[in-house]
Amino acid sequence: MKAVQYRSVGAHPEVVTVPRPEPGPGQVLIEVTAAGVCHSDIAVMSMPAEALGFPLPLTLGHEAAGTVAALGDGVTGFAPGDSVAVYGPWGCGTCLMCAQGKENYCTRAAELGIRPPGLGAPGAIAEYLLVDDPRHLVPLGDLDPVTAVPLTDAGLTPYHAIKTSLPKLTPGSTAVVIGTGGLGHVAIQLLRALTPARVIALDVTEEKLALAREVGAHDAVLSDESATAKVRELTGGLGAQAVFDFVGAPPTATTAAACAAVEADVAIVGIGGGAASVGFGTTAYDVAVRSPYWGSRAELVEVLDLARAGAIDVHVETYALDEAPKAYENLHAGRVNGRAVILP
Ligand code: NAD
Ligand code: ZN
Ligand code: ZN
Repeated sequence: MKAVQYRSVGAHPEVVTVPRPEPGPGQVLIEVTAAGVCHSDIAVMSMPAEALGFPLPLTLGHEAAGTVAALGDGVTGFAPGDSVAVYGPWGCGTCLMCAQGKENYCTRAAELGIRPPGLGAPGAIAEYLLVDDPRHLVPLGDLDPVTAVPLTDAGLTPYHAIKTSLPKLTPGSTAVVIGTGGLGHVAIQLLRALTPARVIALDVTEEKLALAREVGAHDAVLSDESATAKVRELTGGLGAQAVFDFVGAPPTATTAAACAAVEADVAIVGIGGGAASVGFGTTAYDVAVRSPYWGSRAELVEVLDLARAGAIDVHVETYALDEAPKAYENLHAGRVNGRAVILP
C-alpha cells in the first residue's frame, strides 16, 4: 500500500510503498478515507534525533477516518464497511486515567511504549491503518468523513481545552483565541456553540482573520505588539475570562497571559515552545494557566455529536495521497486556511 512517511531526521515527507498491515488478535484494520494534517507533525519533523523518542521511518497522520476493512480474532461490535473515526491518543486502557476515558493522560503509555498513530505508531496518511483496539473507534454514521476527520484532533483538542473553562464563560465574558488555523477556527465555533462569550480572534494575516470572522469571531485582531492593548480596549480594560493560545510560541504565550482578566483561565495549547508566566504584578489576580493535551474518548463522542447537530463546519482543503508532501509544505508556509485533509 501507499503511505506518507517521515523517513529520516530533517527530511521532507515522502510517498512510499509499504506492506499492507494484517490485523492481529484484538486489532482492527481500517481502510483510510480521510486523514488530517496537523501542525504537530511539523513540530515532530523539526525535532533533533534525540528528542524524537521513537524510531524512523514513521508513517504520518494522527487524524483518521475510514471504513472497517478487517477484524482481528476476537473483535466484536464492528463489521466490515462500518464508517468510523479513530480516537488518536492511545493509552494502556487500564490505568486510572484510561479508566475515565482520558487515554490522552494515560500514566503508563510511555513506560509501555504505547504511542498514538502517526506520532510513534504507524499513522493514517496511508491506504490502511492498523488500530490496536476497537475501543479507539467511534462510529461516524452519516457524518462526512472528510469534514469530520479533523474533529479527532483539531476539534477534540480545543473542545477539551474549552470544556474545562466553561464555568468562566458566562454572559458578558470574553474568550480570546490566538491562532485561527486548524484548531483555532474550530475553537471559535465551539465557543460560539457552547458559550455566550464574546470571541476575539488573533492571527497574523488578513486571510486568517477573515476565516475567523466567517466562522463566528465577534472581533478579529492582528496578532502583534498592540494586540494585548486592543483586547483590553475591547473588554473595557478588564481582559478576557479565558484565553486559548493555539500557537504557544514565546510572544503569543506572553500575549495570552497579558490578556487575562482577574480569575481567568489561560490555556497554552500550541507547542511552539512558549510559556505563560503568572505572578503578582505580572498578571491579573488569580489567573490559572493550563497546558491541555488532546482530549478524552467521551469528549470525541461529544464533538462528533456537536457536528451532527450542525454546530461545527470545518473548513477543509483536500489533497490526494500523492500530494501530501505539498500539503505539509503549504501548512509550514502558513498557506492552509482551515485544515488540510488527505484522501488516500
Ligand atoms: P495551524 O498551522 O493550522 O494554525 C496555526 C495558526 O496560528 C495559523 O493560522 C497561523 O497563521 C497562526 N499564527 C502563527 N503565528 C502566530 C502569532 N504570532 N500570532 C497569532 N497567530 C499566529 O496549526 P494547528 O494544526 O491548528 O496547530 C496549532 C498548534 O497546536 C500547533 O503548535 C500544534 O502543534 C499544536 N497542537 C497541540 C495539541 C495539544 O494537544 N496540545 C494538539 C494538536 C495541535
Ligand atoms: Zn495534532
Ligand atoms: Zn492508561
